[in-house]
Amino acid sequence: MPAPRSGTSRPVIAIAGLGIESSTFSPARTAAAAFHPQRGADVLTRYPFLAPGEPLREAAEWRGALVGKALPGGTVTAAAYASLSAELLDRLRESGPLDGLWFDIHGAMTVEGMDDAEAELLARVRQVVGPDTVVSTSMDLHGNVSRALVHGSDLITCYRMAPHEDAMETKERAARNLVDHLASGRPRPLKAWIPVPVLLAGEQTSTRIEPAKSVYAAVAEVEAEQGVTDAAIWVGYAWADEPRNRAAVVVTGHDQAAVTAGAERLARGFWEARHDFAFVAPTGTLDACLDEALASDARPYFVSDTGDNPTAGGAGDVTWSLERVLARPELKDESGPTVIYASLPGPSAVAEAVRAGVGATVTVTAGAEVDDRHAGPLTLTGTVHAIRHGDRDAETEVVLRVGSVYVILTRLRKPYHHEHDFTDLDLTPRQADVVIVKIGYLEPELFAMAADWKMALTPGGVDQDLPRLGHRRIRRPTFPFDPDMPAPDLRARLIAPSNEPLTGAEE
Ligand SMILES: [Zn+2]
Repeated sequence: MPAPRSGTSRPVIAIAGLGIESSTFSPARTAAAAFHPQRGADVLTRYPFLAPGEPLREAAEWRGALVGKALPGGTVTAAAYASLSAELLDRLRESGPLDGLWFDIHGAMTVEGMDDAEAELLARVRQVVGPDTVVSTSMDLHGNVSRALVHGSDLITCYRMAPHEDAMETKERAARNLVDHLASGRPRPLKAWIPVPVLLAGEQTSTRIEPAKSVYAAVAEVEAEQGVTDAAIWVGYAWADEPRNRAAVVVTGHDQAAVTAGAERLARGFWEARHDFAFVAPTGTLDACLDEALASDARPYFVSDTGDNPTAGGAGDVTWSLERVLARPELKDESGPTVIYASLPGPSAVAEAVRAGVGATVTVTAGAEVDDRHAGPLTLTGTVHAIRHGDRDAETEVVLRVGSVYVILTRLRKPYHHEHDFTDLDLTPRQADVVIVKIGYLEPELFAMAADWKMALTPGGVDQDLPRLGHRRIRRPTFPFDPDMPAPDLRARLIAPSNEPLTGAEE
């Protein structure tokens, strides 16, 4: 390893990355502002473990370049990618010589005209920082890992929990492994990569339940092996149609036998469980889910409106489900069962409700501005129940009471994951009969609150019924698209160090 270049004993490490999960099956497009880019010293404030005084903060000289994270959405426009990546590279250039770079990405960013956006970005980063800089990449387990991405990274890892309760822990591990590696003076880690030809929805692979629970439990066991630095399994991202979309395993370390055996164990575990991955909650059509929810004694009863889930990449403004909810005769009257629906974007509807004020009765039209493939804009008449300004994602939120349904309308799309997202709007989900949320698996607070729960398989950009989406460009055969496919080659591929040429074709 070259001596640290800062002139002190501490290595110089830059932080850079762009993160989004973007659906190529959604007509939505993502612009640069959606990434809320942070720059310079501001980048460090994203990470509690890099707060002043924290051991990791003191162990290196950290230089924030540019980190931007967007809510899941549609494909990133070529212009947005060009401007963000150009600024990121400029800032890295200005950072001076670097011992290390922490590449903080998601791994499921699709960009217009590009097939492997993160590997492409890393290749450009490499041209700026040079071959001697050691790169540690941290990802979401719903990211995709091509041979090129592994090659450009010296360390690479991802979350081990879905929902991602270990997100910050994973980022800290990636940063710490980089710091430890730079201090060790050892040669670059070996990297054993195995693509696993399986592509599943996140809602079938929650680590709360089997088989993912056991498949992922093996990750820590492999990591604990002598000679292994880190181990990771990626589920991959199901709602983009690129050759790289599939599951993958990478184990890094300094003992070739250990990283090879560890990677093969994890890949085998995932492949052998492929038939057992089931949805995390009972599924059904929306009508069937509503029938059950309204008839049940369990309160509150949650229904996930999964096809337009904004946290997976749906446009968020599909009206198909809300239209059906409001058409139900038992919900037409204020005395009906209390139902909360979150949510539907409709900027002009929100503006009108704000003008009218709380208590006023309004007729507004919302939704289907981005994704109108399944139903058109929806006109609703109701009483304004609450108005809230200042949300980071929604900007302005309005609750409209239509019959016995409290409909949350937003200026911009927003995920509803926390109890306070509702209570901030004078809603009490615990007292509601049914809470319908555009979401896949319930985030922890909602999961804990739900007395019962069903996932409605509704249409949208992140339709959970994968085969009906019509992937054309993923590699075949892939399970479950080719259910009777032959056993794949699950032997570890040792990927060349980042400072040596990439060998082996993408496969
Ligand atoms: Zn994820």
